[in-house]
Amino acid sequence: MKNKSHPKGMVIAYQVDGGLYLNITNRCTNDCLFCIRNNETGMGYNLWLEREPTVKEIEEAIGDPSPYAEVVFCGYGEPLLRGDVVIEVARWLKTHHAKKIRINTNGLADLFLNYDIVPLMKGLIDTISISLNAHNAEEYQKISQSCFGERAYEALLGFTKRCREVIPEVILSVVDYPGVDVDKARAVAASLGVQFRNRHYLSD
Ligand code: SF4
Repeated sequence: MKNKSHPKGMVIAYQVDGGLYLNITNRCTNDCLFCIRNNETGMGYNLWLEREPTVKEIEEAIGDPSPYAEVVFCGYGEPLLRGDVVIEVARWLKTHHAKKIRINTNGLADLFLNYDIVPLMKGLIDTISISLNAHNAEEYQKISQSCFGERAYEALLGFTKRCREVIPEVILSVVDYPGVDVDKARAVAASLGVQFRNRHYLSD
């Protein structure tokens, strides 16, 4: 696994299994019990940003996106907190022949953005992976500790339904953290007609 460090040492882009992952913010509206940010070793190197990178810095860190199987907006943090930056960089990626663009998100953009980002993703984003985390609002809040409380879960489901209309591949994911009912969560994804992914919990 290689990374592309900013001259000042910030890891903005790093490679995993043929994909290029973008680290554009460390902020999040959740505080999930299993969050990798609680794990000091993280992805094997320090993804804490001294400040959030600009669009230009992100593009420079990417370089030529065309060799990568996919480019992924992910964390340390919730990328859609910088929704305008994600859309601008995604447009740039398209014009520079990125094969596939994915966003990993907590699905709460409707609660923290003051505009609807879903239509802006049409034709740009190929895959969106949304953290379902649980099969109902109460369990979601126990695990995700959202600043929005239990209303976060309904917002996440509504966001998922709207993404389904404009993004070719929509995935709901759970981490098999102790207490998570994976089968019930899978049934929620099936009821929405989207894909489901069970991610394994890395305890350390
Ligand atoms: S949504 Fe993601 S970045 Fe945010 S706290 Fe949960 S695991 Fe961490």
